[in-house]
Amino acid sequence: MTGVRTAIVIGAGPAGLATAVALGKAGIQATVYERGAALSAAGGGLTLWPNGLTALASFGAAEDVRAVALASPGTAMRTAAGRLLSATTGPELDRIGGQGLALHRADLLAALAGRLGPGAVRFGRRCAGVRSGAHDATVVFEDGGEDRADVVIAADGIRSRLRADVDPRPLRYAGFAVWRATVHHPLPAAPGLLTFGGAHQFGIWRLPGDRVYWFASAPVADPARAPVRPPELFHTWHDPIPELLDVTTPAELTLTGAYDCPPLRAWHAGRVVLAGDAAHPALPTMGQGASQAFEDAAVLAAELGSGTELDTALHRYHRRRRRRARAAWSQARMLARVGAWRHPLACRLRDTMIASAPAGAQRRQLQRLFTTAGEEARS
Ligand SMILES: Cc1cc2nc3c(=O)[nH]c(=O)nc-3n(C[C@H](O)[C@H](O)[C@H](O)COP(=O)(O)OP(=O)(O)OC[C@H]3O[C@@H](n4cnc5c(N)ncnc54)[C@H](O)[C@@H]3O)c2cc1C
Repeated sequence: MTGVRTAIVIGAGPAGLATAVALGKAGIQATVYERGAALSAAGGGLTLWPNGLTALASFGAAEDVRAVALASPGTAMRTAAGRLLSATTGPELDRIGGQGLALHRADLLAALAGRLGPGAVRFGRRCAGVRSGAHDATVVFEDGGEDRADVVIAADGIRSRLRADVDPRPLRYAGFAVWRATVHHPLPAAPGLLTFGGAHQFGIWRLPGDRVYWFASAPVADPARAPVRPPELFHTWHDPIPELLDVTTPAELTLTGAYDCPPLRAWHAGRVVLAGDAAHPALPTMGQGASQAFEDAAVLAAELGSGTELDTALHRYHRRRRRRARAAWSQARMLARVGAWRHPLACRLRDTMIASAPAGAQRRQLQRLFTTAGEEARS
């Protein structure tokens, strides 16, 4: 296999679009195929962290994304009654890598797509499979069409169809579901907030333009049978939670079960390589999915653009990314586990742990995640 000149990207989510932008910067011509008729805003709000912004900056997309996001003046955690458990100020976050941003998925995707040439994203094309050959790969679409390129990037999300060709392990359900909505509602400037009560959580982030992104998570046996609205219990929680629930219409709500799977053994097979949620399905509790996807994009484009043989480039991409993706995955699992505690004594212990966690230890853990985006294993 020799150097790469053309790529096909499957999926126009954060991973696919960012990878296409990064590949363009590396001199590789990329075409994105998306099954949907347009960019999908499903899910609404997202938080973005300094490691994601560093990765975006490496391929020239950080400023466009910043322009559609709101920096949060720190983060805070509270009990359901509103008692403050911990607060990290903006300047404290700056000292460990930078502040988080909150933005709407639609704005993020539009900002990334805006950096691609006209026609770079082709909608309404669902990939059915890929045939890897000695000299190129052929993507087969459900409509019977085909296209070819030197390499195929599977950025087709947590339920990736192409992941099965690389590592067929199934997703596993983590026992909770998340309701999310973005509503037009003025709120005073406040830190990004996470509130704990039993095995339930509620998060609030302000977005640009007087919009608020909120999410509520609760234990649910079967997410397919969960009610459209989050449990009534949240109406008894501190302000402005009841108010946000009241102004949200059912049409504004998205309900998603939380799934992940243990780290994959490989991220590539033949000429197909995974990126984003397809490569490292993780629980949403760290809010790191898009940031990790941008790290994938930066490292994958750098390796594919390096002129080395494809096998070597893909191998180096996996080596450079696997440890950080695994760290984000395991921190998300750990948070989900602690968040699922429901016995009152366990919950009191959790509140004490959050309130008294040594600032230095917390800071070091976040600093490791927020910095050195994807650069841990050069070889
Ligand atoms: C409840 C919840 C809250 C979250 N909160 C955050 C957060 O605050 N911050 C954060 O960074 N992350 C968050 N995430 C995770 C984040 O949404 C994902 O990590 C991110 O969307 C992954 O991007 P992706 O491009 O890999 O996949 P996706 O966003 O899933 O995009 C995949 C794209 O591929 C397309 N596609 C799929 N199959 C095919 C096919 N066969 N052919 C063509 N196209 C196809 C899909 O239509 C889609 O457009 C959250 C997730 C959940 C569930």
